[in-house]
Amino acid sequence: MRPVLLLPLLLPVLSCGSIDRAPEPSSHRTHAPGIDPADLDPSVRPQDDFWRYVNGRWIERTKIPADKASWGSFAELGEKSNRDVREIIEDLARRDDLAAGSPEELVRDLYRSFMDTERLEKLGAAPVRPALDEVSAVSSKEELAGLLGRITRRNIDTPIAFFVGQDSKNPTAYAVFVSQNGLGLPDRDYYFREGEEAQTVRDAYRTYITRLLELAGDPTPAETADRAFRLEEALAAEQWTRVENRDSEKTYNKLTKDALLASAESFPWEPLLEALSLGEISEFIVHQPSYIGGMGRVFAEASLDDWKAYLAVRILDHASPYLSTPFYDARFAFHNRTLYGQEEPAARWKRGVSLVNRQLGQAVGREYVRRHFPPAAKARMEELVSNLRAALGDSLRSCEWMTEETRAQALDKLAKFTPKIGYPDRWRDYTGLELRGDDLIGNLERIEAFDYAYQLGKLGGPIRRYEWYMSPQTVNAYYNPRLNEIVFPAAILQPPFFDLQADDAVNYGGIGAVIGHEMGHGFDDQGRKSDGDGMLRNWWTDEDAAEYDARAKRLAAQYERFFPLPDLHINGALTMGENIGDLNGVTLAWRAYQRSLRGKTPPTIDGLSGDERFFINFAQIWRSKSRDAMLRQQVQTNPHSPAEFRLTGSLMNFTPFYETFHVQRGDGMWRDPEDRVEFF
Ligand SMILES: [Zn+2]
Repeated sequence: MRPVLLLPLLLPVLSCGSIDRAPEPSSHRTHAPGIDPADLDPSVRPQDDFWRYVNGRWIERTKIPADKASWGSFAELGEKSNRDVREIIEDLARRDDLAAGSPEELVRDLYRSFMDTERLEKLGAAPVRPALDEVSAVSSKEELAGLLGRITRRNIDTPIAFFVGQDSKNPTAYAVFVSQNGLGLPDRDYYFREGEEAQTVRDAYRTYITRLLELAGDPTPAETADRAFRLEEALAAEQWTRVENRDSEKTYNKLTKDALLASAESFPWEPLLEALSLGEISEFIVHQPSYIGGMGRVFAEASLDDWKAYLAVRILDHASPYLSTPFYDARFAFHNRTLYGQEEPAARWKRGVSLVNRQLGQAVGREYVRRHFPPAAKARMEELVSNLRAALGDSLRSCEWMTEETRAQALDKLAKFTPKIGYPDRWRDYTGLELRGDDLIGNLERIEAFDYAYQLGKLGGPIRRYEWYMSPQTVNAYYNPRLNEIVFPAAILQPPFFDLQADDAVNYGGIGAVIGHEMGHGFDDQGRKSDGDGMLRNWWTDEDAAEYDARAKRLAAQYERFFPLPDLHINGALTMGENIGDLNGVTLAWRAYQRSLRGKTPPTIDGLSGDERFFINFAQIWRSKSRDAMLRQQVQTNPHSPAEFRLTGSLMNFTPFYETFHVQRGDGMWRDPEDRVEFF
């Protein structure tokens, strides 16, 4: 079962993005909190290039750390969160008096097992040997299907992913979703794209999996790798593109079990579903029906040896971060260096902290909140969210192109937004999970089994509205259309996004725009297809839907003209939802800020007006630089536009920005008024 976090239903703000030094202690500050005017670049006119005016000096003096593919506001805060979590974990790691089975003990033991490198080096491939032996022992396609199920349960990528989520057209019930999966390259297109870069990636991938097989003792690793690669290529040819997968209507196909089985008739479904404990399920929601048929054909046509090669590669790829150094080095060379341009691996402790965050996020999150999230921050956030909601209400009521019929539904959806701030009201219960300080791969298997049982346990039960898909120590945020909720983990509620000491302009331009972005997802090109109760249904009049889509198309065309690299432009269709979220975000934050002033003029601080401070902090939160390889992967696979264009793309459509900085025709940031796109 894939973590629900990876579902396209959830739309995170993105991690990219700030400052190359720790915030100065306030006693040494020569400027008000939030913005240092000395950072602004006087050699660039804000009217020509607002990104460089605000961030240019930072970009010039900042070097991306060797263990990072990009660096900026988000990444820097992410590092702070990692250090905070490390302190908590290391406090626990020193203790031998923790209650057996307590979340604290689980955290300590998982971290200890990861940090015990001496043991891991000695073990080599031994921890994955049982799984690889199981693959070797398979003697028929029937057995193979059962093994696929057991491997899928372990959260290892196989050709079909199964996961439990709310039924989009009946959101008060959970359903089993079926989705394409199981490729080693980042996307189906990577198997077919022409050109030198794509070939380099494919070659590096082959080198990587060959090396894994060699380290695991395969006598003919190059031949096995070739079989696995060819099989992946055949699966990739059947898969849908990322743009197709964004479509919430086309990916909703509820099939009876009989219909699912009939869509790949020769495939041995029963052993697969049995192994997944899904044998009794009568309906499935299939994301890509044509893929299931295609996968069935590939399953039948490829030989048992091809499939064994493929599964060995999937198991080794999944385990490679947790085995001895040669395995990790091979992994790093492909997954980090080739794909993202990262120069050096992150320190072991950072990888250990990431592992704990990923696997036991709430177990450590509880203490993180106790140490790092003051109640005053939650109260201030609640106020900001409520002001943003009011601004969205104003915007919907005054929206000229929307008919009354659609408007009433939109306002109903807004009234039903659920904000979640900081941390869950109800923490994940880890009762029954047992870990050991000396068995890393075993720990991962036990966590995977525990998580799978947790997901299965949802079926037939009430909706767990209290669930969070991110831990409190995550620097990010999300909108979940099924619960119509906007969620802000504690870790993003820090400078430069949110600063209890800073003036309102700074906070509205920072976290206000993030809140607005998540609210904006409720009304982006996909979000708008669900109602206030999380139901995927068309509540728009034809006329309003057509008008909305025309605006979205114009926005997509604008982004298609942005080139993050000389030979690569943004994919307007892939990034449409995020670009709409960004534009709605800055619009709502601005209106909420103006509303908060109640007609008064805010004070000028450090020579900057309130309006200027709003936009400057909006640009600061996107401050970032990326390695070219990272930028290329992002543009090709990620629904978020690169940070510079998230900023410029939004502001060039936003008339109050023109007014604040007196942007004129002929300036670099100018777009003719009739070409500017506005939704609400
Ligand atoms: Zn987003």
